[in-house]
Amino acid sequence: MAGIIDGKVFAAELRARVANVVSGLKSSHGLVPGLAVVLVGEDPASEVYVRNKGKQTVEVGMASFEHRLPDKTTEDDLLALIEQLNGDPAVHGILVQLPLPAQIDAHAVINAVDPDKDVDGFHLVNVGRLATGEPGLVPCTPLGCMMLLRAHAGDLSGQNAVIVGRSNIVGKPMAALLLAAHCTVTVAHSRTKDLIDVCRQADILIAAVGRAEMIQGDWIKPGATIIDVGINRIDGENGKTRLVGDVEFVSASAVAGAITPVPGGVGPMTIACLLRNTAQAACAVNGADFTVE
Ligand code: NAP
Repeated sequence: MAGIIDGKVFAAELRARVANVVSGLKSSHGLVPGLAVVLVGEDPASEVYVRNKGKQTVEVGMASFEHRLPDKTTEDDLLALIEQLNGDPAVHGILVQLPLPAQIDAHAVINAVDPDKDVDGFHLVNVGRLATGEPGLVPCTPLGCMMLLRAHAGDLSGQNAVIVGRSNIVGKPMAALLLAAHCTVTVAHSRTKDLIDVCRQADILIAAVGRAEMIQGDWIKPGATIIDVGINRIDGENGKTRLVGDVEFVSASAVAGAITPVPGGVGPMTIACLLRNTAQAACAVNGADFTVE
């Protein structure tokens, strides 16, 4: 049976390390890191994320600024708010909750955020920094996956890593991080031929597909490390629903060496990494040392 990579425990430890940095910044620089979260519209899932982010931000000792805008907000109004937050010295991190309503161009908004406050790591400057190995802000979900991998497996050098999914927020930054960690990286997607055979080559398999339990136990190389990014809600028993990953957990855990569960794997790491990135951004503008790995 595979070992369970417990993201809940690791995320709690990461938040404690961030809280230490925050308390150090208060005593050494008289500074409270601040995270501004902007939510446009009333998407119920986004509401839950934003509430959790605000709660956890305050719990690590940071300031949380929530901006809730109506569904009909224009792109110009949102850009004006971003400009105001870019110029606000109390705000060190800015996150615009996606998806945005159809009348707003998400790319324009993401690229209007000051790259040094772009704690989501989605700005073109941070994408370029990651691709070229320059220090910068790294997208939270792939960063959380890397932390779990390193904590579990240590040196990843020379390992075959396969990522299923090539989105800008997960698959592509994940590939850059694994390449920087000296893995041999394959990125698979909906047009990949012989996907099962490709997955069977993986020492490290990252599933970021958005298809419930697509990856089965017989796709997995014995002993491989599986990081399941997927979050899918499916019908459960007694008319209830339940969350599952992109990997079929029972058959996969019979073959893999280690696996992240869903829920309780990658999910909790994403917000913890957002707090970590906000602390990093606050340290950078104030010339303070920062090492939270
Ligand atoms: P996305 O933008 O929809 O991308 C999905 C990727 O999977 C695409 O590259 C797509 O290929 C590929 N794909 C779809 N069907 C496939 C198939 N049958 N075979 C092979 N590849 C296939 O999704 P995402 O935003 O990256 O998210 C992926 C999953 O992670 C979702 O379940 C999401 O909810 C979850 N997620 C979790 C967190 C977290 O905090 N844990 C954060 C972000 C996302 P094409 O490019 O060819 O279309």
